[in-house]
Amino acid sequence: MLRILEMTHADLEAFFKSNYGKGPFLASALYGAFYKKLNPRPWNADAISLSPGLSARLKNDWDVAAGETVEWVEQEGVATFVTQLKDGHRIETVVISMATHLTVCVSSQAGCRMGCCFCETAKMGLIRNLDVQEIVGQVVTARRRHGMSVRNVVFMGMGEPMDNIDAVLKSIQVMNDQRGLDIALRHITLSTVGVVKGIEKLIAPAMPKVHLSVSLNAADNVLRSQLMPVNRSNPLPALKETLLKYTLKRGAGIMVNYVLIPGVNDSQECADQLVNWLSPLKARVNLIPLNPGGAVEFQVPDQEDIAAFRRLLIRQGVNAQERHSRGRGVMAACGQLGARAKRSG
Ligand code: SAH
Repeated sequence: MLRILEMTHADLEAFFKSNYGKGPFLASALYGAFYKKLNPRPWNADAISLSPGLSARLKNDWDVAAGETVEWVEQEGVATFVTQLKDGHRIETVVISMATHLTVCVSSQAGCRMGCCFCETAKMGLIRNLDVQEIVGQVVTARRRHGMSVRNVVFMGMGEPMDNIDAVLKSIQVMNDQRGLDIALRHITLSTVGVVKGIEKLIAPAMPKVHLSVSLNAADNVLRSQLMPVNRSNPLPALKETLLKYTLKRGAGIMVNYVLIPGVNDSQECADQLVNWLSPLKARVNLIPLNPGGAVEFQVPDQEDIAAFRRLLIRQGVNAQERHSRGRGVMAACGQLGARAKRSG
């Protein structure tokens, strides 16, 4: 079966020409019916129904399924939904509703192999990479359900996008297509644990100009290796060097995520190390309060813990803000994805 969720408009147009001998008008009709009108049976679009032969052929040839949603939980404008993949595995997606648009936090893998000790998804281990259809399908499902357009996509659901970079890059191309979902590149964020090779790949001028966010969580090598095993093979100095190259070559700043864990990475010394490590990187820091779920031995910070650490950074000239963790109540906040997906057994 052919997959519309893996195609840009240009891909579809070329395919219509070579395989059906049809021009761009009909390709546009199918693409627009699916991505703009959100029609689950796009071969029924008016322009296509005029030629019943083609309509029947399209119905037969094309897989347009965005994935089977098996659970949907919503609270305070944050929803999380579970998609059952064709092989039975389950993934989670988070949708944050704003007044006029949505932010969708997509998964790039079922599970994750990175093993960060505070993260719920890590407990699953890596099951497999998602394909382009499964990634873009999450955005289409969110859009259909809410009827609002999707402005922001963040690759901060389950998985490590750098480990599945080819599918992630193609899905970005599809989501960005103006004749389809039309999500601006500057509204797409790719978040990584800091895979140096992956970041290096993104430096090339041909790469899409999306935002890069790095989950740092500690600026001391020993501590970071304890929290995030990836640091052993991608240590802080190498990560910094690559990020410096990235910011210089791309002329763009980066976002640094810092999950605050009381008594672990929130001391004055930790703040100083972070300030020092960041210099002279062009970076903004997002402080994320640890959400319960990943590791029972850790405490959850209160508002004052976050504010205090933020002050330590700001005093030294670092641009730091708190990232509000809406969605905790439904286990949809950062690092909480997985429990629901695992329930599939
Ligand atoms: N693997 C990528 C994409 C996933 S993003 C990455 O790590 O960047 C998931 C984000 O949630 C990361 O910033 C991670 O550090 C954070 N996170 C993981 N577990 C968390 C928890 N229990 N509480 C708060 N944030 C958490």
